[in-house]
Amino acid sequence: MNNFNSRPVVLCLSGHDPSGGAGLQADIEALLAQGCHAAPTLTALTVQDTRDVVDFRVLDRAWVLAQAYAVIDDLPIAAVKLGMLGSVEMVDTVVQIMQRLPGVPLVCDPVLRAGGGGALGKDDVGYAMRERLLPIATIATPNLPEARILAELPEGTADECAEKLLPFIEHLLITGGHGEEQQVHNRLYSRQGGHHDFTCARLPGSYHGSGCTLASTLAGRLGHGEPVISAVRSALDYTWRTLRDAEAPGRGQYIPRRL
Ligand code: PLP
Repeated sequence: MNNFNSRPVVLCLSGHDPSGGAGLQADIEALLAQGCHAAPTLTALTVQDTRDVVDFRVLDRAWVLAQAYAVIDDLPIAAVKLGMLGSVEMVDTVVQIMQRLPGVPLVCDPVLRAGGGGALGKDDVGYAMRERLLPIATIATPNLPEARILAELPEGTADECAEKLLPFIEHLLITGGHGEEQQVHNRLYSRQGGHHDFTCARLPGSYHGSGCTLASTLAGRLGHGEPVISAVRSALDYTWRTLRDAEAPGRGQYIPRRL
């Protein structure tokens, strides 16, 4: 056994979803599929099924710091993925954790709602993310409803939200899965001026954990050293396949098949 050919380690700061569709389980599965090792640090517990969220509880700050520092002191972290944080205090906790990981790629999935629409954090959490987390992140991956909250533009188009958010973040991927059109438009905006449109066919149904799958895969690709645009393309392609192969084990949304 040696360290020379270890898989990249991705630190995941996310919530737990007992349905197994989203949250840390989604992160672990997606990262395994990318040939990465997931180091799951729990930020919040949720009560939910594949239909919607019933309740959630954010962990104590001290517990999250202790988990993350134990991992950071031990493992070579190649990338960090953020999922549900749940409170403004947890946003600040993550900022503190990232001070120990200078230069490590950070993917921020600004989770504020579950796929079924239930809240997983107040809009204030989104504003704190925008002000304090996006500036230290490599890329954020909001869907259009989340981008509208972050940008405080309730009716904004993806372009309008991007214009408002790019001063805060280097790369912004606004996903289009929540729309109605036959084609899904996923738009990557870069502060340097680049704009890429990744289009894919809309699949029937709605999915639980698609955003988690995308953001973790992206963190995994960045952890492998892939450049941002190529990593976004790989992550979108993989996520689309997990949705195409999704299963419907419950009474609600489909669960992506990641492995
Ligand atoms: N993180 C947790 C813990 C969740 O429970 C959920 C949704 O239920 C999400 C993230 C976001 O899920 P999605 O990828 O469907 O946006």
